[in-house]
Amino acid sequence: MKEEILFQPLKDLIDGLSEKRFSSVELTQTCIDRTQACEPKIKAFLSFDREKTLAEARASDERRSKGQTLSELDGIPIGLKDIFSEKGQPLTCASRMLEHYVSPYDATVVSRLKASGMVCWGRLNMDEFAMGSTSENSAFHVTCNPWDVTRIPGGSSSGSAAAVAAGEVPLALGTDTGGSIRQPAALCGVVGIKPTYGRVSRYGIVAFASSLDQAGVFTRTVSGAAQILQILCGPDLKDATSARRPVPDFCAEMQKNVGRRWKLGVPEEYFREGLDSEVKQSIEAAIDFYKRQGYLIQPIQLQTLEYGIPAYYVIASAEASSNLARYDGIRYTYRSPSAKTVEEVFARSRSERLGPEVKRRILLGLYVLSSGKYDSYFYDKAQKVRRLIYDDFQKAFQSVDAIVTPTSPTVATKIGEKSTPLSVYLSDIYTVSVSLAGLPALSIPCGFTASKLPIGLQLIGKPFEESTILSIAEAFESQHDYWQQKPPL
Ligand code: GLN
Repeated sequence: MKEEILFQPLKDLIDGLSEKRFSSVELTQTCIDRTQACEPKIKAFLSFDREKTLAEARASDERRSKGQTLSELDGIPIGLKDIFSEKGQPLTCASRMLEHYVSPYDATVVSRLKASGMVCWGRLNMDEFAMGSTSENSAFHVTCNPWDVTRIPGGSSSGSAAAVAAGEVPLALGTDTGGSIRQPAALCGVVGIKPTYGRVSRYGIVAFASSLDQAGVFTRTVSGAAQILQILCGPDLKDATSARRPVPDFCAEMQKNVGRRWKLGVPEEYFREGLDSEVKQSIEAAIDFYKRQGYLIQPIQLQTLEYGIPAYYVIASAEASSNLARYDGIRYTYRSPSAKTVEEVFARSRSERLGPEVKRRILLGLYVLSSGKYDSYFYDKAQKVRRLIYDDFQKAFQSVDAIVTPTSPTVATKIGEKSTPLSVYLSDIYTVSVSLAGLPALSIPCGFTASKLPIGLQLIGKPFEESTILSIAEAFESQHDYWQQKPPL
C-alpha cells in the first residue's frame, strides 16, 4: 500500500476502508513503515507498541467483515501525545520522573477513540510536562521539523505536529494550555484545533495548569479535525470543569455555513513589532482572500495583548506548582535511592528527575503564591488581568464573528537558536491570551516563506463556536493547496 494515503484528507481514509480498498491492518502497517523510515530524522515518537496497535487494527477489520463497525472512523490510526493515559501503555510526559510509569486506565478521550474503533499508534514526544514551545525541554530527545530537520517543530505537542506533517500518522491528539496545539501546527504546516475550555474532558490527561489545559487534534485538513472533535467533545462526569452542554454536529454545521460571508476582526496589536515580515505578508494575503470572498473585514482592538504573557506565566506556573506536587518520590515511579528521610525522598527525587524548565516553573509558581506576594503583587493581579483579557475579547465579539491573527510571530527557528527562557516565552504572544479567555481557536496552513517553511493562520472563535472557526478555515482551505504540500523527507 502506498504511503501517499497518509497525506490524504481523513475522508479518503474512511472511504478506502468502507469501500474495502484497503484494510485497517494495511493502513496501520503503512503508518508503521512510514514511521520507521522517518524516525531516524524526525524523532517524533517516544515509544510505540507495534503488536498492540496491529491487534487493534485486526480487531477493527474483524468488526468490519461482520458488518459491526463502531463508527465510520473504525480502523483509522491516531497518535497520542505522551500526556494521555492509555491503559497498559507507558506515559512519561517526556519526563524522567515518569520514565517507567504505565497508565492504569484510559483517559476519557482515549476511551472515546477506542469506542469508535480508532487504532492508537504510538506515544508522541513533547516538552516535559507540556512546558515549552520547541521540544527542547523533552527529557529524552528533540523532535525535528519535517520541513527542515535543523529546526524546531514547535511545542509542547511537538511529536504530534511533526508526526502528522511527516505522514507518520494521519491524525494525532495534543493538548494546548497556552498554544501547544496551535503553535506546533503552524510551524509544521498542519491543522491544529484547541476547542473551548471545558469542551473536552481532561480526565486521564496529566495536568499542567488545570484552568487552561484543553485537549485537541492535529490533522491534515479542517474537515478531518471536525470529525475527530465530534468524538472528543462532550460532557464527562469525571471532569468537574467539563461543560454540560450539547455538542453540535460540526460537519453538518459546516455544510450549512458554506458560502456564508462572516465578519472577521483583525486586531491591529497583533501586527506590530516582533512579527516576521514574511509571516505578516502571508497573513495579510489570507485576510485579503477573505475580503475578496465578500467577508467583512473589521479592524478591532485587543489592547490587553501585551499583558497576556506575564499573566499566563504567573497563572500557569502557580497551577503547575500545585499540580506537580504529586511527583513526590512516594507515588508514581521514581524514588531517589540515596534518600534516607522522608524530606530527602521529596527533595532528592524531585531534584534528580525534574528538568530545569519544570523546576523553574515550580519555583516561579511557589513564589507568586507565597504569602505577601500572592495578593499584593502576583497571582491575584494576574487573575484580574485574566478577566480584563476575557472582557477585551467579549467586547470585540460584539461586532465580529471571529478574529484572525498570525499563530506565531515567526516560522520555525533553528534548534538551539533561542537561548533564554524569556525568548521562548515571547513566542507565545498570540496564543496565550486566547487560552486565558478559554476561547476556541485553530491554526491552518496559509503559506510558506521563500525558504519553504510553513506559516499558520490563527482563527479565534466565541465560546463554544468551534463550528464557526472550522467553517471559516475550510473556506480558505478549499481554495488553497498549502495542505497538499509535502515536506522534503
Ligand atoms: N509554550 C507555553 C508554555 O510553555 C504553552 C505550553 C502549552 O500550551 N502546553 O507554557
